[in-house]
Amino acid sequence: DLSGKTAVITGSNSGIGLGIAQELAKAGADIVLNSFSDREEDHALAAQIAKETGVKARYIKADMSKGDECRQLIEEAGVCDILINNAGIQHVAPIPEFPTSKWDAIIAINLSSAFHTSAVALPMMRKAGWGRVINVASAHGLTASPYKSAYVAAKHGIVGLTKTTALETAEEPITANAICPGYVLTPLVESQIPDTMKEYDMSREDVIKNVMLKRQPSKDFATVEQLGGTAAFLCSAAADQITGTQISVDGGWTAL
Ligand code: NAD
Repeated sequence: DLSGKTAVITGSNSGIGLGIAQELAKAGADIVLNSFSDREEDHALAAQIAKETGVKARYIKADMSKGDECRQLIEEAGVCDILINNAGIQHVAPIPEFPTSKWDAIIAINLSSAFHTSAVALPMMRKAGWGRVINVASAHGLTASPYKSAYVAAKHGIVGLTKTTALETAEEPITANAICPGYVLTPLVESQIPDTMKEYDMSREDVIKNVMLKRQPSKDFATVEQLGGTAAFLCSAAADQITGTQISVDGGWTAL
């Protein structure tokens, strides 16, 4: 039961972040949603979670590519018992053609944002006497693929940051872990399908089965509900001694 706890989830107006927010709300946690936009529908998502679960939920705009805005997000939340670093973007190109601006944005959003939010959240967790840091890494935090240099570098980086966070909090009632999803059908993955169809000259179905799920032995996507359930487990008392590790939710990808 997470009632009385507040969870801040970066990049949570869609996909995995929203799925994790919904599962943590079902478990009783108050929710702070985030993205870089400030639209009516962003705030409506928070209102809907509050209505469906009875927890407090709000949406705070902050751009996770900017260190000061990452820090402001946690400060504005005021309390952060559960920090889910989830915001992430992708770009697919061979290294010589990889735009520097994309490299910088991916490192900033997928990696550095977690450093900034953790820097502000950890003192809050210490004050509260309990805390959970959950970094959404990827199977690409443990293995690589061609054309995803920045993403793979950032995700390996966040796995390392997770271990360091765990060691710095090891003697306290705070844990830090990474969740490493394989392919989950979210807008981020959906948007890669056209480029990959072009890259390999394949149909949508062939891209899904033979490219995307090629390395996912289950041949099935993971779901945002499953990732939410994994996050809720890491927040439970059963996970008090689980720290500094990675939980793969990848249909066997990293067993290959
Ligand atoms: P998504 O595109 O649905 O969600 C990404 C979220 O990040 C969105 O809410 C978006 O608004 C937010 N975001 C992007 N740039 C931001 C910025 N500058 N500031 C604040 N928020 C920003 O994608 P998703 O698949 O749900 O991805 C969520 C996380 O899961 C990412 O870190 C991604 O790398 C990781 N992941 C996804 C998969 C997958 O198959 N979908 C697999 C492994 C890891």
